[in-house]
Amino acid sequence: MTDDEDFRIETRAIHAGQEPDPETGALMTPVYANSTYAQDGPGTHRGYEYSRTGNPTRTDLEANLASLEGGEYGRCFSSGMGAINTVLNLLESGDHVVAGDDVYGGTHRIFTQVYEKYDVAFDFVDTTDHDAVREAVRDETALVWVETPTNPLMNVNDIGALAEIAHDGGAICAVDNTFATPYLQRPLDFGADVVCHSLTKYLGGHSDVIGGALITNDPHLDERFGFYQNSVGATPGPFDCFLVLRGTKTLPVRMDRHCENARELARWLDEHPAVDGVYYPGLASHPQHDLAAEQMDDFGGMLSFELDGSLEQASEVVSTTEVFTLAESLGGVESLIEQPAAMTHAAIPREERLAAGLTDGLIRVSVGVEHVDDQTADLARAFDEVLG
Ligand SMILES: *Cc1c(COP(=O)(O)O)cnc(C)c1O
Repeated sequence: MTDDEDFRIETRAIHAGQEPDPETGALMTPVYANSTYAQDGPGTHRGYEYSRTGNPTRTDLEANLASLEGGEYGRCFSSGMGAINTVLNLLESGDHVVAGDDVYGGTHRIFTQVYEKYDVAFDFVDTTDHDAVREAVRDETALVWVETPTNPLMNVNDIGALAEIAHDGGAICAVDNTFATPYLQRPLDFGADVVCHSLTKYLGGHSDVIGGALITNDPHLDERFGFYQNSVGATPGPFDCFLVLRGTKTLPVRMDRHCENARELARWLDEHPAVDGVYYPGLASHPQHDLAAEQMDDFGGMLSFELDGSLEQASEVVSTTEVFTLAESLGGVESLIEQPAAMTHAAIPREERLAAGLTDGLIRVSVGVEHVDDQTADLARAFDEVLG
């Protein structure tokens, strides 16, 4: 597909970056299982020299992802963390970063346990409080890191406002768009400089691959990402790229069902006597519901709820469900359930965890694309068994 801006996202998801093979007509991008490429003369090659630097399967995926985000350039990595690390590679010693106080745990870990020792400073603030963000930005601030919706409380951050604060302070704004996906939200359109993804989640969509990506419209940033991609070497193999490319084709249809099921499940939970509260941006009661409605095309497939019970009872509920598999991660076709206090956020001291709203009874679900009636029946059965 040549001029793919003319096509809607459902069409680009399937075709962007991909042409049938000119020699064989093969419809799907082949898995180019190659480390190296024959050269026509020393230094004269046909676009590829070595697969860390570039691989045709990866090229098609990078073009596909860039198109979905409405960006010019895409770069893929062997994990979401590999992508995040590449953004951090832009920093110099003495630089400062402002990030949300509820960023993904792995992001918090690489910030504080890997980069602080290189004399990069991090401030974690409530990014829904724009005054707090403005105050945290200082001369040395080079990067404002944004997630939206956040994990696990589904806070929604205003990408346009935060990008403006970053730019006013001479910093760039990077948005981790893993939870929303480009089908629901395109941060570059709101002024973000870089979009980051864990392809492991909705973009791959089938819980069978680990991957990451960075998308930008800035040729200078893309050139540096390409340099670090090749120099650091956290690049995905061609089969991983193939799996993600296969996943992105059905992203729009999967996301429609994820959103539809999550909306219905959120309403059902909201009325259930065993549930004390539901965190889902699609509910009118969500504090940033209006912002979410403006910024996103739909509200996504992730939600959390407060079980009216103890830490042990919440642990029992997540161990009892059958349609919802007890597991970390998210974004696959299958429903997953987890208890942040005992799993993804267990490393946070209890007092700090409670202060952040991560209570003992909090349960997070990645709502899959099974029939929603089976999902609600599964939770109803688990609530009955555990709470009586
Ligand atoms: C999973 C995840 C990551 C890390 O991605 P990996 O592919 O696991 O390395 C980063 N950000 C968010 C929001 C995630 O959910």
